[in-house]
Amino acid sequence: MRPSILDPLFAPVTTLEGVGPKVATQFQTLLVGAGETVRVRDLLFHLPTGVIDRRKRAEIATAPEGGIVTLTVRIDRHQAPGRAAKSAPYKVFAQDATGEIALTYFRGQSGWLEKLLPIGEMMIVSGRVEWFNGRPSMVHPDFVASVDEAESLSLVEPVYPMTAGLSPKILRKAIAQAVERVPAVSEWIDPSIVAKHGFPDFGAALKRLHDPADERYLAPDGAAFSRLSYDEFLASQLALALSRQRMKKARGRPLTGSGALAARLRAALPFVLTDAQQGVIAEILADMADADRMLRLLQGDVGAGKTVVALMAMATAAEAGAQSALLAPTEILARQHFDSLSKLCEAAGLNITLLTGRDTGKARAAKLEAIASGEAQIVVGTHALFQESVDYRDRGLVVVDEQHRFGVHQRLSLTGKGRAADLLVMTATPIPRTLVLAAFGDMDVSRLEGKPAGRKPITTVAVPMERLDEIVDRAGRAMAAGDRLYWVCPLVEESEKSDLMAAEERFRQLKGLFGDMVGLVHGRMSGEEKDAAMAAFKAGRTKLVVATTVIEVGVDVPDASIIVIEHAERFGLSQLHQLRGRVGRGEKASFCVLLYRAPLGETAAARIAVMRETEDGFRIAEEDLKLRGEGDLLGTQQSGMPFFRIASMEHHAHLMEIARDDARLILATDGELKSERGEALRTLLYLFGKDEAVRLLRSG
Ligand code: ADP
Ligand code: MG
Repeated sequence: MRPSILDPLFAPVTTLEGVGPKVATQFQTLLVGAGETVRVRDLLFHLPTGVIDRRKRAEIATAPEGGIVTLTVRIDRHQAPGRAAKSAPYKVFAQDATGEIALTYFRGQSGWLEKLLPIGEMMIVSGRVEWFNGRPSMVHPDFVASVDEAESLSLVEPVYPMTAGLSPKILRKAIAQAVERVPAVSEWIDPSIVAKHGFPDFGAALKRLHDPADERYLAPDGAAFSRLSYDEFLASQLALALSRQRMKKARGRPLTGSGALAARLRAALPFVLTDAQQGVIAEILADMADADRMLRLLQGDVGAGKTVVALMAMATAAEAGAQSALLAPTEILARQHFDSLSKLCEAAGLNITLLTGRDTGKARAAKLEAIASGEAQIVVGTHALFQESVDYRDRGLVVVDEQHRFGVHQRLSLTGKGRAADLLVMTATPIPRTLVLAAFGDMDVSRLEGKPAGRKPITTVAVPMERLDEIVDRAGRAMAAGDRLYWVCPLVEESEKSDLMAAEERFRQLKGLFGDMVGLVHGRMSGEEKDAAMAAFKAGRTKLVVATTVIEVGVDVPDASIIVIEHAERFGLSQLHQLRGRVGRGEKASFCVLLYRAPLGETAAARIAVMRETEDGFRIAEEDLKLRGEGDLLGTQQSGMPFFRIASMEHHAHLMEIARDDARLILATDGELKSERGEALRTLLYLFGKDEAVRLLRSG
């Protein structure tokens, strides 16, 4: 259970003064994304990006047009609008040694204003100055205090990232209240690390950032910011270490095969395994043969040939008498894996079953029976495989394909349920080292370098939309010559206002020109419709398939040699790379056409330039990281929330390794988090939403 001292921070934001349902919704948009409860804690972790410093004083005569200034003035007179001119503003005139300024209030209440700005009083006012006919005015000053009052007020005001419609004042007030609620907690960071980095304690760090005495306190490499980033890394590393500890503790078992099935598979393959593939297969089999449980990440660029590596591992499990589950992120992919593996499995005498949410009734019951009896040696499916009560006779190996799509939370629960099975995670997005650490902790990593021999480079060109007709023309000629093409559009049926050409419209147009050679597949189709469209394309009954990004990950049609990506400027770099990876898998020279709408923004132009320059997934991932930030790269962009809320890889990556080592040390000495510091660390885990990890402690 979450320690009760954290209750005030986990209360909904509506428990704060000045926060009603409307503001709460704005906070939700800003902080957590739709569907999630926004809590006081979320406000705390929303850090300012700058300050307005009202300590610097300006003079009326030299106040710049449009600038935000702070003035020390004497209030001279009030001028309420006359009866005849009700819509005219209420003006309060004030002066300093250099001149006079009008403080202007629309629909100002005289009673309220007379109290706020008493005649004869010395006041500090701050806001935007506008000059009109040689006269300065300040409309609705955003800060007003008497000179005496101002001494006790904080004159350095934090500036926060905002969302449309939200008032900065309301946000500031809410955050100030949140800071007040921070309880005294015992230190969870190792004292030597605290001392070495000069970290303030948790509450003090928050206060220093939300109520900065100076802009310098907000520097990302400052002590307060670093402290909170470290907290965040430590929570994440500790959670990962806990799940690893738990999984390792679960009795692993050696899975050793005779090699008979694997040999038959090799013989059935239409190609020879590359040295790189042989190498990673050896690593995986060694892990499986070990009594410890396997926790291995297989990284390999799109088209590197990961699937067959997984198949060899699954065959070995079968030789050892255990079952394997292969988990795909989408139904299309699950079906594709099933289709392509079936032939090989049949040749080798391996029993493989596909289980998706679409199986119902008797057919489903029969499959569940085959899984429970152990007759099904390999089970392919989507994550429904885990959510539902699917009983295996003996599941020894779990392979997860394109894992980065599942998100970090699911990953924990997935492994939590994985019991004693060996785990192999395959990812196509080449994640840089620091991010592997962030997302997977110290999982063992195999890298499948290079691609199967004989692959030809993909020629990538960028073409403005104005030349669409030309591209359509060429597509027609390519189809006539027997080529197969993907045509990717970003969205289906966007709002009417959008100028995006929806996939359906493009489909109608191309079908009008080329008839039945054109197919369509998009995310709103039913599973059966999608399968049918992909099957037709794979079999060559259609030569061009108009698609949305449902084809982004993993789809494998080696005969397709051209991909046209419409509105390429709207895709991220990794996404473009994944999409391009759909071609260049066969004998033919391949092309990628990036259709863009001019003029290109700076980032979009940079992305397209990188795409034209290189096919190297690792380089593309590094560039992507620079251009977009780490959250997107890990596929957490669906929720719109960054992977880390506080820490940034740009400034704090060096703290990650320290946090990882610290987390390991903690678990080595206090594996159950029972010591005094252990208790404090539990609080840390809850603070950063790692409840799942704490649960592992109890059930472990
Ligand atoms: P990914 O790593 O992106 O999942 P796949 O496993 O889908 O890649 O493999 C891409 C394509 O390369 C498939 O058509 C597969 O049959 C083929 N392939 C895999 N290994 C080899 C190899 N050693 N030689 C030739 N082709 C291969
Ligand atoms: Mg794949």
